[in-house]
Amino acid sequence: MKKQFVVIGLGQFGSSVCKQLYQLGHDVLGIDNDAENVRANSNYASHVVVANATDEDKLRALGVRNFDYAIVAIGEKIQPSILCTLILKEIGVKNIWVKAQNTQHQKVLEKVGADRIINPEEEMGIRIANQLDSDKIIDYIGLSKDYSILELRATSKISNKSLIQLDIRAKYGCNVLAIKRGEQVNVSPAPNDRIHEGDVMVVMGNNKSLKRLEDKGM
Ligand code: ADP
Repeated sequence: MKKQFVVIGLGQFGSSVCKQLYQLGHDVLGIDNDAENVRANSNYASHVVVANATDEDKLRALGVRNFDYAIVAIGEKIQPSILCTLILKEIGVKNIWVKAQNTQHQKVLEKVGADRIINPEEEMGIRIANQLDSDKIIDYIGLSKDYSILELRATSKISNKSLIQLDIRAKYGCNVLAIKRGEQVNVSPAPNDRIHEGDVMVVMGNNKSLKRLEDKGM
């Protein structure tokens, strides 16, 4: 479904969020106070505007209240990032996601009421470490402190076995959400569907259960 996003701060992080959302078919308004950055992103957003993100009247005039999500990606400067988040909160934006620079910044953002605080370096670091840790893990998405979604490469150990035979839900308490084979993605795997070596299984579960599945079940 098409959603409306406003991305504030079009540095490296903000512009890649902006571009990707736009390419996914969403309505994206990009805002930055640097005219050069705005110009550089004009082909990768529905609209781009030069504006100061701490100017409440300007943000109101741009109608940011009506957007489904605001992403505050003002990089190194902590003060405008906090002020902008506060203004968005007061204006009544429903979902405010903010990139944090450090732990102090994160704490203030929590107090101000950011809905999601993003630590790109930390999140990417965890993701990469998980990929390095195991030959079987291809990708990782943290859902909460205890739950994740993993992409696991099927080994010869489970090759040609059906989901019923593997009985992953009962044995490990994890759910197989999808099976990827090359370009094909089976998003509602049936009990009799068979796994082949090299398939990618998208599995959701508790982190401990997923670790057990990865170590013992694959
Ligand atoms: P990144 O690490 O994502 O590249 P940067 O600090 O380089 O982060 O980029 C932050 C962006 O936010 C820059 O493009 C900068 O011009 C923009 N920015 C900084 N302060 C404001 C502000 N008050 N209003 C609007 N944009 C801002």
